[in-house]
Order: sequence, then C-alpha cells, then structure tokens
Amino acid sequence: MSNDAVESLRSVFNSGVSRKLEWRLTKLEALRTMLTERTAEFTEALHQDLRKHPDEAWMTEIGFVCTEISHTVKNLRRWLEPERASVPVSLLPASAQIVNDPLGVVLVIAPWNYPVQLALVPVLGALAAGNTVLLKPSELAPATSAVLAEWLPKYLGDAVAVLEGGVPETTELLKERFDHIFYTGNGQVARIVMTAAAQHLTPVTLELGGKSPVYLDESVDLRAAAQRIAWGKYLNAGQTCVAPDYVLGTEKVLDRLAAILPKAINSLFRGDPRNSDDYGRIINERHFERLERLLEGAELVTGGECDATENYLAPTVLRAEAESPVMQQEIFGPLLPLVTVRDEQDAIRFINERDKPLALYVFTERKQSKQNFIENTSSGALCFGVPAAHLLVPGLPFGGVGPSGMGAYHGKHSLETFSHRKAVFDKPLKPDTMKLIYPPFNALKHQV
Ligand code: NAD
Repeated sequence: MSNDAVESLRSVFNSGVSRKLEWRLTKLEALRTMLTERTAEFTEALHQDLRKHPDEAWMTEIGFVCTEISHTVKNLRRWLEPERASVPVSLLPASAQIVNDPLGVVLVIAPWNYPVQLALVPVLGALAAGNTVLLKPSELAPATSAVLAEWLPKYLGDAVAVLEGGVPETTELLKERFDHIFYTGNGQVARIVMTAAAQHLTPVTLELGGKSPVYLDESVDLRAAAQRIAWGKYLNAGQTCVAPDYVLGTEKVLDRLAAILPKAINSLFRGDPRNSDDYGRIINERHFERLERLLEGAELVTGGECDATENYLAPTVLRAEAESPVMQQEIFGPLLPLVTVRDEQDAIRFINERDKPLALYVFTERKQSKQNFIENTSSGALCFGVPAAHLLVPGLPFGGVGPSGMGAYHGKHSLETFSHRKAVFDKPLKPDTMKLIYPPFNALKHQV
C-alpha cells in the first residue's frame, strides 16, 4: 500500500507537472478551499481529539495554515527567482545563479498536539517548492487524522497522499525511498526516522522538543509577564512544543511571581478551568498518568487537581529544584515549575548545562541583559517578552538546534528546506578564456 502510494506520487513528480508555478499556486489555493469549506469538520475533530475551543482551533491551527498559505502565495514567484552569484574575473565572460530545484517525493510525519497545523504547514511548504507529498498524521489524534485522510486527496488530487496508522505502518513506510523526510515529534522517534533515512541517504528535517526555559528579572512588570507566561503555558493544556517548560528567577522574583500566577490563571479560565470551554484536556491516559506521576510529592503553588475520567489536569504551578522529577524530562503538560537561581549569570549557566532548547524566553527591560542572552546561549529561538508568538512571524525560521531539532521551516524557509539550491553556471565557448589555465604551464599562467 505505502509502496503504491509512493510510486504514484513519484510518477506525478517525474511527469514534471509539479515544477510549474501555476500547479503550485493551484494546489495552495485548493488547500485553502479545503480549510474554508471543511472548517466545521476540522474544528469538530480538534475538539474531539484535544477539546480545543473553536477560536483556539482557528487561531493556532486552521487559520494559522490559511495565513501561511496567503504569505506563500503572495511571495512564491519572487522567492523562486534565481539568485545571481558573482563570477571571478578569471572566469569571465560567464554567469552564475542558484536555482531552487524541487526534491521529489516528500514524507511528512506529523504529531498529535497541533495535528492540523503541524501536518499542513510542512505539506504546503513542500508543494510550494514543487514536490509531491505523502502525509502520515498522528494516530494519537485519530479524529483529525481521519478528516485529513478524507479531504486532502479530494481537494489536492494526485499531489498528496495520506497514509494513516501508528508504529507498524510508519515502520513499513520508512523502508520506502523518499527525497526528503520531515518529522515532527520526539527525539527518540527522530533517531528511528534518521536511521531509516540513512539507508537511502535521504535528507531529514527534525522538528523536536525539549524543555524551553523562561528567565525573568526584577526589572519587568511581573503582572504582565505572568499573564503572558500563563497564556503560553496553558494553551492546549501545556501540550505545545514551544510552551514555557519551567521558570528561572531569583528567590525574590519567584516569590512575587508565585503570588501573581494563580490570578493570571484565573483570569484566563474564568476561575474555573475544569468547566471552562477554553481549557483543553491531556491527549490520552498514558500521558495523563505520566503527568500525574510528576506531581507526586510536589510543592504546589496552585492547581494539582486531576480527574482521570476525562484526562483533566488543572493548570498547575509548583516549586522545584534542578533534581526534581519534573525537571528531568520535557513536561508537555500544564505543570509549571519555578526554579530558583542566584542571578542572570546563574540562569545562563543553568540553561547552558542542559540540552539546547527549542525556545528560550527572557523577560527583562535591560538592554545589556538581552544582549547577554543573545551572545551567550543557544536555542532554536530566543524571545523577549512573550512566549510562542514568534511562530506567527512568517519571516522567522522555525526549528530547533541540537537535541531540539535540525533544519527549519515557515515561509521562505520552507521553500529552502524542500528545495535543492542548484548551482547553474554558464560560460560561452567563445572567447575561450579557459585556455589561460590549460597546460602546458608557463610563468604567465602561473599568475592566473
Ligand atoms: P506522536 O506520538 O504523535 O509522534 C509523532 C509521529 O511519530 C506520529 O506520526 C507517530 O505515528 C510517529 N511515530 C511514533 N512512534 C514511532 C516509531 N516507533 N517509528 C516510527 N514512527 C513513529 O508525537 P510525540 O512524539 O508524542 O510529540 C510530542 C513531541 O513532539 C514533544 O517532544 C514535542 O516537543 C515535540 N513537538 C515538536 C514540535 C516542533 O515543531 N518542533 C511540534 C510539536 C511537537
């Protein structure tokens, strides 16, 4: 089955049709039409899988993809223009340019936490670059996976195939030869994907996760900062790859923050997250139990209520230390540990001793402190004053570094990811200046 799908996508690619700008723009428009005409089905599926509020589903998933489509449609022609490179005098007359060449058949393996956005933004990037695409949605968001499988091929025809399934299906799929594999998920599976890709020397993009830290100092308006941290943390019940994972600050700052955060949480969920339509649920029992275990023996600031019957876990803030269980793995849920550091330098040391994060969030009004973080830390993104919002800037590459990922996408960066930058060199046969470098050598040629 996977073999047939890949064969068919390869024959479409080999026909050359996907290289044409018109084909690409038509496919992007078809994707937009699908999202517009099927909004209700996608919204319902996201509610079923993650209990997402329709407005949140639009903002972070369906509408997000539409914005990315608009940005790409508007700029694609310009992005595809060949880029000139300068030619050394010794090789003149000649011209040199870089042409974005499609790669072929792209495999997109998507996760469950933003199952529309994280499936379709890579798909549209691959199509914009002139490829055909096989999408494997996450089996952990089955309602969304089913809607994608039903509608994508109907709207996009033979440009895209969707293969649903879990580990056995993905394992089979990874035996096929692709021209690029784009994987979003965890580092463990990323190693499996990269190993499979190595058998065919297939390039990979790995969009992974990890613990994204926050650091705040006493120069900021803590009330405003707390509101933004709470928003970024409890969006999608903390199941966001760029969610603040933990907060670093001095004892004094964290004491004040601990007093403010419960109010910020109350304001987001009208004082009753459990009955609020705006607050999501944990994806499944396995993740719920994992998070519940992290709470055992924790020093709670607020929250901590759990209800296994509906995978409900309250927005929770806790005090923790570097050795606490909650600090040993990416949380990926609504638990926010506050961890004391001595000062800014100590925070930088703490961050640099751990895996390079997908995002690092710093709240400070001090210009010099900002510069200190820019120059002395490494992360997929570094954001001042707000978590997660950098994803909404299409000009910024989105991706990790080291254990948080490899490669990046969004906007023009997607085009670069899904293209080969082909070197094109053109030198006329006459006049034959090349003869200056042919043997036999002499003193004059030595100087060329
Ligand atoms: P997941 O369980 O949905 O897995 C992702 C994909 O991998 C799925 O399609 C799944 O079928 C496939 N998969 C699972 N096990 C496999 C195996 N053994 N062999 C082959 N394929 C397999 O998602 P997840 O990994 O639980 O997602 C959470 C992780 O993803 C977190 O670490 C999070 O930070 C990260 N994440 C990163 C981004 C990003 O953009 N950088 C976005 C979302 C999530």
